[in-house]
Amino acid sequence: MAIKELALAEAFGIARGSRTNQVVVQVELEHEGVIGCGEASAVYYRGETVDAVVEFLGTTAPPLVGDDPFALEDIEERLEDVDGLSGGKAALDAALHDWIGKRLGVPLWRLLGLSPRAPHTSFTIGIDTIEGTRDRVRRAREFRALKVKVGGAEDLERLDAVREEAPDATIRVDANEGWTLDAARDLMPELIRLGVEFVEQPFPAADTDSFNALKDLHPRLPVIVDEGCQNLADVRPAAAYADGINVKLAKSGGVREAVRMIHAARALGLHVMLGCMVESQLGVAPAAAIASLADWVDLDGHLLLADQPFTGLRFEDGRVLPSAEPGLGVAPA
Ligand code: MG
Repeated sequence: MAIKELALAEAFGIARGSRTNQVVVQVELEHEGVIGCGEASAVYYRGETVDAVVEFLGTTAPPLVGDDPFALEDIEERLEDVDGLSGGKAALDAALHDWIGKRLGVPLWRLLGLSPRAPHTSFTIGIDTIEGTRDRVRRAREFRALKVKVGGAEDLERLDAVREEAPDATIRVDANEGWTLDAARDLMPELIRLGVEFVEQPFPAADTDSFNALKDLHPRLPVIVDEGCQNLADVRPAAAYADGINVKLAKSGGVREAVRMIHAARALGLHVMLGCMVESQLGVAPAAAIASLADWVDLDGHLLLADQPFTGLRFEDGRVLPSAEPGLGVAPA
């Protein structure tokens, strides 16, 4: 197990603050001579810390994994009593899937019966000045979709600038719980004018009153829940106040729960977005393996980094695609 500090290519600003690096925990699982790998980001908006993830992966989890890495359902059941730590659980789940894929000689997407296709990924434009925002958009020409972080002082001016610089790009906005109902009501006609595709997590997760009030606004854009939808149990409540969910493995605790969430969302008529944390290709790879199940993909976590400690994921025509190598299909660079 190793704690790694990943440097970001440039400062990353969202409604909650700005940062220049991301700490992740990488884990290896060895069994019968095969090594499976996974990476965890502590989900800070759930109160998870790197220390707790290290404690979980190094001490708590190993005896609960047992001696059969194929027994994913049983392992998950044994881990159920461990509270929270979905980031750590996702790393362990990734390592188990990597191990199984390597042991059987098949890539994860194939193991799951999926295709290696994926919708275009969005590229995140963090909160910045108007000129800084323009500059970021100019340097993101290889992406078909831009996810603009909002919830700052100059949201509309920045979005106008983004549309000017990228007249043909798909634009999505993510407020990371940073708007009030009044702000969302005021901005909605402007977002529609700018051709924005959807709004992600406009209000604090607990403020479902504001989500419900926004639902009555006509016309309006689809509203996607991220911070407010962590796992399968959150999907049905989300369907009552929003139009879609953003599934992330670091929230769900791994691939199996993420796939369950996606199917539940489909049954409830919800749109499905697949996202990630700021993480290396090792962290993004399991999400890339299930990206064909999503309507919208936001898998740019590794593309925000200064360096690539792992290789294997492909970037083609604005899409992040999984490798054809066994397991997660990534290896140290
Ligand atoms: Mg989000």
